[in-house]
Amino acid sequence: MIINMESIKNTLQEKGIKPTYVRLNILDYLERNRFHPTAEAIFKSLEKKVPTLSRTSVYNTLNIFKEKGLLNPLFITGSEVHFDRNTAPHHHFFCKKCKKIIDLDIKCAYFKEGEVEGHKITELHGYFKGICKDCLKKGSK
Ligand SMILES: [Zn+2]
Ligand SMILES: [Zn+2]
Repeated sequence: MIINMESIKNTLQEKGIKPTYVRLNILDYLERNRFHPTAEAIFKSLEKKVPTLSRTSVYNTLNIFKEKGLLNPLFITGSEVHFDRNTAPHHHFFCKKCKKIIDLDIKCAYFKEGEVEGHKITELHGYFKGICKDCLKKGSK
């Protein structure tokens, strides 16, 4: 996928978000890095490139993106919030060894039905925890 600043700018404007330099760079980063980064990871990766960046501006921007539906927060690890640019409903696998959060391409039968035991489903947040296949190959149990 080719990502350029023009399409990033369009995405922001379509959502009614003013495309400031900070916002453009954070969305660009999220588009390129689909490993579900934390706010701290985003700050660390961009602080050199965007000298005006502060932790507060990262948090504020992520909040705006969340409200406008540009990303989903993930609470898998129980400690830090991770951010997912992929807002389509999908499951995750969290590796307890390497702390990676991996997208899973599996279908949830209930989600397809739109209801579970009489309750209407509007969102899906499913995850598994364990040891990822890369860590298994390296001999982790
Ligand atoms: Zn792993
Ligand atoms: Zn994901």
